[in-house]
Amino acid sequence: MKFPDCVMFFLTRRVLWRFRKPTYVTLLGGPGAGKGTVALELAPLLGLTHLSTGALIRKEIADGTDFGKQVKATVEAGGLAPDELVVSILARALKAPENRRGVILDGFPRTLRQAQMLDEQLADWGVSLTRAIWLELSEADLIERLSLRRTCSNSGCGRSYHLKFQPPKVADTCDACGSALIQRKDDAPESIKARLATYKEESAPLRQYYKRTRGSALVFINPTNAMTKEEVLAKVSSVLR
Ligand SMILES: [Zn+2]
Repeated sequence: MKFPDCVMFFLTRRVLWRFRKPTYVTLLGGPGAGKGTVALELAPLLGLTHLSTGALIRKEIADGTDFGKQVKATVEAGGLAPDELVVSILARALKAPENRRGVILDGFPRTLRQAQMLDEQLADWGVSLTRAIWLELSEADLIERLSLRRTCSNSGCGRSYHLKFQPPKVADTCDACGSALIQRKDDAPESIKARLATYKEESAPLRQYYKRTRGSALVFINPTNAMTKEEVLAKVSSVLR
């Protein structure tokens, strides 16, 4: 809905705030690139919700929903859930009242088709993607990160740790909820290889699409395993301000 300028002039700041368009930021990058960690830290600073499609999918699998049953085997073998299904659960989450101000997406879109479907969905609602931030790491750094990653076994929490870079305060225990930490099935060595191959194949057309359609709203950041989490966060925050 668009208001004439004269009407806009008389609206109070409070009302303007309520009509403000939501902010949609997406963090892109290979598996283990740190999308989840960055999103988790930045979301409260920006007043947005952190929404991970990976976590949404894992919750569906853990809850044994119809969707979960359909994608369980594929996801645990390192494959991708079908685009239509992922977009439908994401759209449902985006419409939730707690996400009205906007979200930081993590792990979505993973494919060109998902990016196009997200754009179509947002256009239907009269909004668009605010910024796409691509975390680009070397394959060696990604492998080091994934193989030592541990994840909270509580699907409602799902926080990630790293045995070297971000260990939990108490061994094998989630700092946030106290549940046991596990190695996700898709972080096992044979799955890592499959995931990196899938990422390479799927991300190339996605990159081209965003370069063509997003212009300066697409930003590349190059973290390395030698950088601290704070250094990476500072880089990402600087492009959001
Ligand atoms: Zn937890």
